[in-house]
Amino acid sequence: MFDYILEMYFVKVPFFYRLLLRKALFKLPKDVPTLYLTFDDGPNDELTIWLTNFLIKHNIEATFFCTGNSILNNLSSFNTLINPLFSIGNHTFTHKNGWDTKTSDYLLDITKCQDILENYAQKYFSRPLFRPPFGKLTLSQYYKLIPHYDIILWHVLSGDFDNNSDIEKCWKNITSNIKNGSIIVLHDQNHIKEKVKTILIRIIETYQRDYIFRKLNY
Ligand SMILES: [Zn+2]
Repeated sequence: MFDYILEMYFVKVPFFYRLLLRKALFKLPKDVPTLYLTFDDGPNDELTIWLTNFLIKHNIEATFFCTGNSILNNLSSFNTLINPLFSIGNHTFTHKNGWDTKTSDYLLDITKCQDILENYAQKYFSRPLFRPPFGKLTLSQYYKLIPHYDIILWHVLSGDFDNNSDIEKCWKNITSNIKNGSIIVLHDQNHIKEKVKTILIRIIETYQRDYIFRKLNY
């Protein structure tokens, strides 16, 4: 079954995958119209700073899924995430693909990232958040992680990281899938910074009137 989705990515997570990973979060029910912005793969020395300045200026909450490696290489940018508007989640130490990695190695990589997160931002972690890189997690990894982490997948993947997706295509992915409670994925990667900035500005301009932006809580 997994071969089918191995080389693809999904704007929306397929229904069968949602059934398999039943406790992973894709979308949260909310009475007040709410969206969850999430940024993966940071921090870095440029886009992270722009994002945090922009979000703080507009009083927008968001969640950043960081790799341990990026944190160690960009500690001053990481410090800008330590702000009441933001939550910070674990994205493994080396951006591991769960489907290509032995469960014991995968868990070690996650623990290594978690140790760094707790070392530099300890007050944030009563119940840690984890997002598997590429959304790829085996069932054995899932069952080991679920007692300890809130596993966060997504409801809307913008496709910003895809060189074949220009801004208009990403924007269509977002506008045609967004719903109350949607968890939206963007990427905190410098090499696509102009795309990410434009998309974020559009999201805020378009949805801020009707939705509250919230961080994922823990
Ligand atoms: Zn990632």
